[in-house]
Amino acid sequence: MTPAFIWSALPARVVFATGALERVPDEVARLEVHRLLVVAGGTATQDALDRLRAGLGDTCVGVVRTSTQHGPTGVADEAVRAARDAIADGVVTLGGGSVIGLGKTIVQSCDLPLMAVPTTYSGSEMTPIWGRTREGRKQTWTDVRVLPRTVVYDPELCLGMPPRLAAASGMNALAHCLEALWSAGANPITSVLAREGGCRLTEGLPRVTANPDDLASHAGNLVGACLAGAALAQAGTAVHHRTCHVLGGGWNLPHAETHAVVLPHSTALVSALAPDAMGEVRRLLDADDPPAAVFSLLTRLKLPPSLAAIGMPEDGLDEAARRVVEACRNDAIAPDESAVRRMLDDAFFGAAPQPGVRVVARTRR
Ligand code: NAD
Repeated sequence: MTPAFIWSALPARVVFATGALERVPDEVARLEVHRLLVVAGGTATQDALDRLRAGLGDTCVGVVRTSTQHGPTGVADEAVRAARDAIADGVVTLGGGSVIGLGKTIVQSCDLPLMAVPTTYSGSEMTPIWGRTREGRKQTWTDVRVLPRTVVYDPELCLGMPPRLAAASGMNALAHCLEALWSAGANPITSVLAREGGCRLTEGLPRVTANPDDLASHAGNLVGACLAGAALAQAGTAVHHRTCHVLGGGWNLPHAETHAVVLPHSTALVSALAPDAMGEVRRLLDADDPPAAVFSLLTRLKLPPSLAAIGMPEDGLDEAARRVVEACRNDAIAPDESAVRRMLDDAFFGAAPQPGVRVVARTRR
């Protein structure tokens, strides 16, 4: 028997095509925006930025460059000031999740329409979730006003993406899919989006990391990221995302890689605490043992295997565990401190996930 659920579609327009960057000026006109602030990522997007500016002409009244993660307050305040100084009436982002995040902060403060042109698989472009980090605490909120009105996906922008970036941002999107299957807001519609998105990502990520110029696989992964973001936006976050926000905000760890390292272990935690949710996860992964399957994908993608390898200090694990428990205390999946500590331990040492079994002796990987 299907439990009762509520579905309300989010108002996003998605334009997906090879070469779609050229369509941005038409999409901007459709939004009736005349003074556009462009927020763009690091040097990797310079060529695309030049083409975008040429297409926009006088409609572009300013450019903000950034690649800072986790939305630190100072960077966000400066970007909001830039939008006000330029008297912008709209914002377009060209880049990964960090750039989209900054765009969301600007439109939230200035009440402007946002357009996103993603260059990674973060999936942020499809969510109304935005965040800020203040004094080592990352806070996120949901506000439909930050949801991009239009998302323009151009798979050509992903050509040549460094394998580590592709793998990590793709695992971040896969984390959206898995969390959307076990979070409290999961329903039959979000589960279809999550399963299809996850299947595309598990298929396409090994391909683009082996061949960064595989256009068809980048396209498949972008569709996967789009579905992942749409699923998470509706189903909501739970213990996996809360854990990564605690770690990323508190110890300034790289966002996508943190998701990738934690995912096998959060999957193990959820499989112990909410085994009923695992049926859908098994279907997505086509595997009997979801934590092992996610761990094997992490290894296959040659991502760092442990929190230790991405800069987490071991003496921060106790505090991190306390903060995760606190962050989850009102959730359907509300683990106790010992369960969270074990998950963090396994993630810290890069141990193979073992639900319900305490791993005693480990060596750091
Ligand atoms: P990122 O945006 O931080 O980009 C990482 C690096 O890759 C940057 O130096 C960037 O310039 C570079 N880059 C981007 N695209 C490239 C390309 N095609 N080729 C080569 N280099 C490229 O990384 P990310 O993983 O996309 O995003 C992480 C951020 O997104 C975090 O701040 C996180 O909080 C946020 N996020 C938010 C949501 C949400 O729903 N709000 C969801 C996922 C991620």
